[in-house]
Amino acid sequence: MTTATPVTVLGLGAMGSALARTFLAKGHPTTVWNRTASRSVPLADAGAVAAPTAAAAAKASPLVVLCLLDGTAVEEVLGALEGAVAGRTLVNLTSGSPSQAREYERWAREHGAAYLDGKIMGDPPYVGTPDIMFPFSGSRDAFTEHEETLRELGTVTYHGEDAGLAAVEFLAQVAVAYELLIGYLHTLRLVQAEGVDVEEFGARVAASVPAYPALLTSMAQAVKRGEYAPDLGPLDVQAALMDDMIGHRESAGVEAVRMREVKKLMDRRIADGHGGQGFSSLFELLAPHGRP
Ligand code: NDP
Repeated sequence: MTTATPVTVLGLGAMGSALARTFLAKGHPTTVWNRTASRSVPLADAGAVAAPTAAAAAKASPLVVLCLLDGTAVEEVLGALEGAVAGRTLVNLTSGSPSQAREYERWAREHGAAYLDGKIMGDPPYVGTPDIMFPFSGSRDAFTEHEETLRELGTVTYHGEDAGLAAVEFLAQVAVAYELLIGYLHTLRLVQAEGVDVEEFGARVAASVPAYPALLTSMAQAVKRGEYAPDLGPLDVQAALMDDMIGHRESAGVEAVRMREVKKLMDRRIADGHGGQGFSSLFELLAPHGRP
């Protein structure tokens, strides 16, 4: 006899199907629903119950997981769930913003359901392994009650009662990746322009990655304390190097706009009398006007 929590999955795209398959594989009685009914067939063949409507699917389980394309889809499906979610926990794994998550949390509360917002950092084949991350936020009681089930999906973290915090974490982590990787692409362009093999260069950059965790942590500590040691050297010295880097890019015909932006920030800090501080002190200039 199974003791695993029954789970409903609404939305059987690439990701929703991977979630439903994982719950099934881990022994959870699983009910599924998808707008296009034919997508339920493979799951039903694998042992899930295919419900005829989203509301019938939601009524079947205490834990109801939504994984849909976007906010428009979530709003449409929630509209069909009025009266079907009281007493249940809604877990929304659809990508979206912090404000959407807070709005869905209000909707859930008004309809008698607990709400957890989750975001997915990884691809469908990794669902059910530790190599995919699921940040969650929202009802702490619901998280505690269903933590074991949610951990079946991958590496799970809980970020607090404010339902928007999982989306904050997701968007911030994605932003770090894009900011780093656009810088990397600019540099590959530069290296290639100089006739260096980009693949071999990439391997050398990859080998230097172990140096970064300590730097990332110490920069975050400097920002939190507002105390800026000369990390990467004092700004006075770094600014001189930036001129060389900008000149190098320009002479190689490579876009230098982001380097010029960094140099502008360094020059402002130096002009304000902070030339002895490190790179992390540029943080002081990154708030919109007048905000702390
Ligand atoms: P798919 O495009 O494969 O599936 C989208 C799902 O949303 C389908 O079930 C579709 O139903 C449903 N849907 C779309 N519009 C509506 C609507 N108006 N009403 C009801 N259902 C609707 O997307 P994924 O499964 O890949 O992605 C789902 C979520 O997971 C997204 O938010 C995505 O950002 C996130 N995610 C996906 C990753 C991935 O690699 N796939 C990685 C990380 C996050 P139908 O079949 O009827 O069209």
